[in-house]
Amino acid sequence: MAKTGVVGLLKGKKPGRTVAIRADMDALPMDEANRVPYASQIKGKMHACGHDAHVTILLGVAKFFSSVPDQVKGNIKWIFQPAEEGGGGGRIMAEEGVLENPKVDAIFGAHVFPLLPVGKVGIYEREGLAAADRFTLKIIGKGGHAASPHLSKDPILAAGHLITQIHSIVSRNVNPLESGVITIGKVSAGTASNIIPDEVELIGTVRSLNPQVREELKSRIELVTQGVARSFSMDYRFDFEYGYPVLINNSEMSKLVGSACSRGIGKENVEVLKPSMGGEDFAYYLEKVPGSFFRLGCRNEGKGIVHPYHSSLFDVDEEVLPFGVEMFIRIIDQYLELEIA
Ligand SMILES: [Zn+2]
Ligand SMILES: [Zn+2]
Repeated sequence: MAKTGVVGLLKGKKPGRTVAIRADMDALPMDEANRVPYASQIKGKMHACGHDAHVTILLGVAKFFSSVPDQVKGNIKWIFQPAEEGGGGGRIMAEEGVLENPKVDAIFGAHVFPLLPVGKVGIYEREGLAAADRFTLKIIGKGGHAASPHLSKDPILAAGHLITQIHSIVSRNVNPLESGVITIGKVSAGTASNIIPDEVELIGTVRSLNPQVREELKSRIELVTQGVARSFSMDYRFDFEYGYPVLINNSEMSKLVGSACSRGIGKENVEVLKPSMGGEDFAYYLEKVPGSFFRLGCRNEGKGIVHPYHSSLFDVDEEVLPFGVEMFIRIIDQYLELEIA
């Protein structure tokens, strides 16, 4: 599915519910700086987000349950998904029907997490990750000589006003108890000190944890741009590209993850995390079926494994592999009421 996606299915001997677990598989276009035996051997490609660990963990879970097929009630589906890092592989797999046939009743996914030490699990009760959208704004003025601004329409001055106005949106339009981020990450205009350019382009990202806030931010950015452009007698262009939706866990399923993991590692090793404003395409599965996305600590200060995602030094403590396998087995065991674990 989805070109390079792979799906595995274990049909239990007895009838029951169908549970799916998902691993993303893709790497990132960068060189690895780690000197470890399992470092990337392909120049310009690196598993800097730990998706190779996700694949390994799911394979471990598959190995375990295929050794006890007689004890499985219901079905277990393994989803190995491409293109999490921007390609929306999760959306494509869901559209191609990965959650049907047999119909998935619940889905679980995990991501290794360098902010927690190995041996700990982090759960999100509901919102886990943000909707991550992108916008491009153009302020279209009229170029001319820098010494005669009255004969042109200076889009740089308008863009200056626009940037400050846009930064008032979150503070003045969003309920203070909700979350939102607007960042303008790129501004492009002009060629020389004595030329007023024709136009300015601004590119930014919008993050939100609530679909209403998401729509409010989108429409406010356009309204503010329209108002600023009009006040300078200029034109504008506004393009908004929807990215991954908000990742919203089902609270019952998050509770199940918490209690299943606690049974193995104790309550004190399961932390409830605040949502992150990053994005994750597991959100597409959660729009269709209840489930929960959680974190597996992979940090180990003693071994120097402390680097963030997408760093050329990102690494996981390999202890997370058997640990992750055990956590998924416990979750599936509890959800399908198998009583193996
Ligand atoms: Zn990543
Ligand atoms: Zn990732």
